[in-house]
Amino acid sequence: MTKLTMAVVGTGVIGNGWIARFLANGHKVIAYDPAPQAEEKTRALLEDIWPTLERYGLAGNASIEQLSFADELADAVSGADLIQESVPEREELKKQVLYTIDQHAPAEAIIASSTSGYMPSVLQEACEKHPERVVIAHPFNPVYLIPLVEIAGGKQTEARFIEKANAIYDQLKMKPLVMSGEIDGHIGDRLMEALWREALHIVNDGIATTEEVDKAIVYGPGLRWALMGPFLTLHLAGGNEGMKHMLEQFGPALKLPWTKLVAPELTDELKQKVIDGTTLQSGDVSISDMEHRRDRFLIKLM
Ligand code: NAD
Repeated sequence: MTKLTMAVVGTGVIGNGWIARFLANGHKVIAYDPAPQAEEKTRALLEDIWPTLERYGLAGNASIEQLSFADELADAVSGADLIQESVPEREELKKQVLYTIDQHAPAEAIIASSTSGYMPSVLQEACEKHPERVVIAHPFNPVYLIPLVEIAGGKQTEARFIEKANAIYDQLKMKPLVMSGEIDGHIGDRLMEALWREALHIVNDGIATTEEVDKAIVYGPGLRWALMGPFLTLHLAGGNEGMKHMLEQFGPALKLPWTKLVAPELTDELKQKVIDGTTLQSGDVSISDMEHRRDRFLIKLM
């Protein structure tokens, strides 16, 4: 793939994940984040995960040397082919940042937002010059390993920018999922949120601890989900008749009251229960050690 210049705006958990994926695939990256020590933090993280990226597979020309930081947002984006916005999930902040990006980025550059929740039509309202090149490109943590990226265009997005984005993410060894419409939360997070709602109810009602809920996924459905999503999984649960039998047998259960639960109130008590539970589960293992374990596991799995 031709070497591209990627601008990464916001270098937190997700922005840094994008930087790692772009560098690993041999591209040039210009980053921007106004937080003090942002550059030091990114470079420390890259040093830490580079061996992981090597195991996963680096492009021949991949190098940390291809990363630089700009002092101004305008400088970071003015020569970019793709701008990946990854600032905190606040509408006003995102719009303000996207406005500046749009003012300074080349007209043919793709402006992609990592937003977990906002629809592209809402974000592109901030771009008065070229809203037609704004797309959502929603990744999953850790971005440098997980292949899924959900791509969506808004009312003003031109199809050719979706096609261009699809081709670029595909060449970044990702599995782009181009959505045919736009919804708050896209697809993956809507599904995860549904599970999270139920998990909170179960903990809130004292039915299971956070550890037991995690166990119910890790040793059960979670193992299958790496291979098959909810539809194919249930298709196989229906025996020789597949989905048809499954729907006949379990379809009526969708009318039971517990299938219509809304999220429980996040009371201080529930928050503490969830925090205490996960702290207990982690034991003496640091988050960084857990990240390393997760990364080794993901590479083996893939
Ligand atoms: P984060 O808080 O870890 O990082 C945000 C970064 O943006 C910080 O480093 C902050 O200094 C920087 N920032 C703040 N104002 C800025 C500005 N004006 N210009 C440039 N940078 C600025 O957040 P995150 O978890 O990385 O989330 C970033 C985006 O990615 C959000 O939209 C979120 O919804 C989305 N996302 C998050 C996850 C996840 O698992 N954390 C997954 C997918 C998508």
